[in-house]
Amino acid sequence: MPTPLESIRNIGIIAHIDAGKTTTTERILYYSGAQHRMGDVDTGDTATDVDPEEAQRGITIYSAAVTCRWAGKTINIIDTPGHVDFTAEVERSLRVLDGGIVIFSAMEGVEAQSETVWRQADRYNVPRICFINKMDRIGASFERTFDDVRDRLAGQPVAIQVPMGAGSPPNPDALTGVIDLIEMKAITWDAESLGAKFEFSEIPEQHRAAAEEWRGKLMETVAMLDDELMAAYLENQPIDPQRIHDLLRKATIGGQLQPTLCGTSLNYIGVQPLLDAVVRYLPSPLDRPPVEGDHPNPKKGRQVRKPSPDEPFAGLIFKIQADKHADLCFVRVYSGKLKSGSRVLNARTGKKELVSQLWHIQSDRRDKIEADEVLAGDIVGVIGPKEVVTGDTLCDPQQPVLLENIRFPETVISMAVEPDSSAERKKLEETLVRLAKQDPTFHAKVNEETGQTIISGMGELHLEIIKKRMERDFGLKVKVHKPRVSYRETVRHPEEAVGEFHRQAAGAAQFARLRLRVEPNPVDESIVVENKMKPGTLPADLARLAEQEVRERAQSGGRIGYPLMKARFTLLDADYREGETTDFAVQAAASAAVNAALDAAGIVLLEPVMRLEVVTPDESLGAIQGDLNMRRAMIVNSQRRGDLTVLEARVPLSAMFGYSTQVRSLSQGRASYSMEPLEYAEAPREVLDAMLG
Ligand code: GDP
Repeated sequence: MPTPLESIRNIGIIAHIDAGKTTTTERILYYSGAQHRMGDVDTGDTATDVDPEEAQRGITIYSAAVTCRWAGKTINIIDTPGHVDFTAEVERSLRVLDGGIVIFSAMEGVEAQSETVWRQADRYNVPRICFINKMDRIGASFERTFDDVRDRLAGQPVAIQVPMGAGSPPNPDALTGVIDLIEMKAITWDAESLGAKFEFSEIPEQHRAAAEEWRGKLMETVAMLDDELMAAYLENQPIDPQRIHDLLRKATIGGQLQPTLCGTSLNYIGVQPLLDAVVRYLPSPLDRPPVEGDHPNPKKGRQVRKPSPDEPFAGLIFKIQADKHADLCFVRVYSGKLKSGSRVLNARTGKKELVSQLWHIQSDRRDKIEADEVLAGDIVGVIGPKEVVTGDTLCDPQQPVLLENIRFPETVISMAVEPDSSAERKKLEETLVRLAKQDPTFHAKVNEETGQTIISGMGELHLEIIKKRMERDFGLKVKVHKPRVSYRETVRHPEEAVGEFHRQAAGAAQFARLRLRVEPNPVDESIVVENKMKPGTLPADLARLAEQEVRERAQSGGRIGYPLMKARFTLLDADYREGETTDFAVQAAASAAVNAALDAAGIVLLEPVMRLEVVTPDESLGAIQGDLNMRRAMIVNSQRRGDLTVLEARVPLSAMFGYSTQVRSLSQGRASYSMEPLEYAEAPREVLDAMLG
């Protein structure tokens, strides 16, 4: 029997790398009975890290979906990647989630990447609950992390639990369990059963005062949400816990607050109440607004799909897992029904695709359960569609809709690859097409001048993993050249120029002349083209053609061949001759005007600059800082967190090659870092001079 919509929770676990996402997922699958063996990241045998590459690195890179049941509800966990080179993967997953658990480490608190992901979750209006993990670590602090969520993330955390103690034995105040502030009871877990058994009891004397204080804060927040409850609270009347749950649920879904829990997944404390909180406070697909998209025929306008099986079918492919035999597409069904054996429309290509098989995803491919039909609100694995890429909409061919596309950032790094033997060139091409299909932040193209195949992506690690996957998953040996950063160009100063086209051929004259201005435009990354010609200077369709030509010419490359950005072009004037000013003449004049303007306006070479965060113990702080100085890094912030220092810096990507090895060796493996594209900024003069030869 299909699961009713209100019983589904599509959630993601969002966390900074190493905060404990994989461990928590493992515990969830174990306690909910979806998996019978407790997995352990430290020995590399977890359920979500099915990719050997991930297990080896102990980080979750490619998102997969797993399903479990808790308290009569179905929870689909969409695994979001934790490495910052893969922000786009996180964004893609957020798009299909209804709610999220954000995990923080009580040791490290809120780290740079948590900020990025939190903002992304804000952007997609994803309701959240927080879990402050690693309360067993020495130096762990619930309060500090809680304050961080409020102050650094501008969140509205509301504690519904507090820890009893922190750290591990022999620390006399070691963590023994948590206090449930709604029931006002202590909860303790039995380590013998790997935390499967737990019990409620009276709050121990030494934790009473703190519990009362936090309960007060909770009740004040809840009372603000409801007048009746406010009155009952002020009169000291008993308050039904269910009433509190209902109010918290409403406010969580409305994005007004984030219920906050704590524990240690590794040492079996706090996971079951976290599952209760998912069921209680996070939305079902019915609690979410309907999705919107465009009809492929622009005249038909916006389309709305409610989360109901009675609507026409619409779903979004949020991940494609390549396989030697058939690709598995992970699809979020937003409306209608998807049937095995049916044909659906890919709204982007306009082609029909066959749905040969539908799979409910348990913890890994061996446990898949086949289905005939899935309904709105669910997440499913689909085998069959051929010409699809991540982000495509599948829909009812009679009622087509193109759901909003997912935004992906620009690539910042590229390198040349070649097959080990020339016989494998075709296989290389095919493999690159398949990899690009799975990962929209990865591009491959052939450089027409040199004939080299160039791949580009979001960072060194990203390309390194792509290379490993070619070898391991596709049996393709490749040679790679050194990675290079992807440069861009812009102009130095404003300049005006005229482009003219004049030709007499076979008795027919062609003529056009166009005047335009180019200027730097630091506020906008993309190319802006504006038409400020007096009305009537050119017929409307020719003016549009001129704008389009200017844009294309600018994107194809500036003076030294890198794509232009941060520049504004303004069309100022044109000369038009009836019968002679053809489409071709306008394009040629526009192109000539852009060339002349760029020649005069001077070149600024732009290079990608990254935002870097390094977390290091004190012994290695000096060495790490010294090394960063040599890399042209600008340290913008330095903060103490427990017994660690967190350095935040902006640094050119070109100076960061091989950084992972260097960080490890400078800190004997104890420092960690994360890096993400920040902006394009002017490269040093020497780099440009070297390019100009
Ligand atoms: P992920 O990168 O967020 O998926 O984090 P993992 O689950 O892989 O955990 C990272 C490391 O932290 C592993 O070595 C885990 O054993 C450890 N870890 C996870 N949760 C806890 C916890 O609650 N307490 C302690 N002490 N260590 C933890």
